[in-house]
Amino acid sequence: MYVATGSSPVLTGVPYRPQDVYVFYKLHLHVGNRLRRGSEHELDGFKFDGEIHLIHYNQKYGSFDNAVTKLDGLVVIGVFLQFQRFYRFLLLGADWKKEAFYDPRQLLPLQKDFLVYQGSLTTPPCSESVRHIVMRYPINISSQNLQALRQLPNNEGSPISQYTNVRPLQGRLYRRVDTNFPCF
Ligand SMILES: [Zn+2]
Repeated sequence: MYVATGSSPVLTGVPYRPQDVYVFYKLHLHVGNRLRRGSEHELDGFKFDGEIHLIHYNQKYGSFDNAVTKLDGLVVIGVFLQFQRFYRFLLLGADWKKEAFYDPRQLLPLQKDFLVYQGSLTTPPCSESVRHIVMRYPINISSQNLQALRQLPNNEGSPISQYTNVRPLQGRLYRRVDTNFPCF
């Protein structure tokens, strides 16, 4: 759960890390250039139109840079984005430039079902330091929102959707995936 502490909300009660406090660091976004090809995670074999990552570092390491190499260093909450034809939503492209100031609580779906596993960063150095929490239900966005998000610049200044920024799906391997909802 999120606890507000002044300007930066912190996350407590993380599965397997009940004693630790994770500080919200920033968010970023994954989108593709085709529908249903924008999320990094797949759920029951299906991808979504995009995926927001809310990145947190373990407070005991003091900073993201110190935490990134530690097994219990990071928590990433993944929220799927799903295009809905008639949906109007307030997510505007311009707001994403202020990413460090975004309140992550506004971006969670109403239903709090999630899946959780220990994995890696999806961008280099791909450290195995991330507890991924993947929200089961997407948040809906309009076609204008989706277009605006696809046009956001990547680090080289090109629109994200030109090359996309979705890591190829990785094997589950030995990873145990838990859920907070009944799953058979
Ligand atoms: Zn990401």
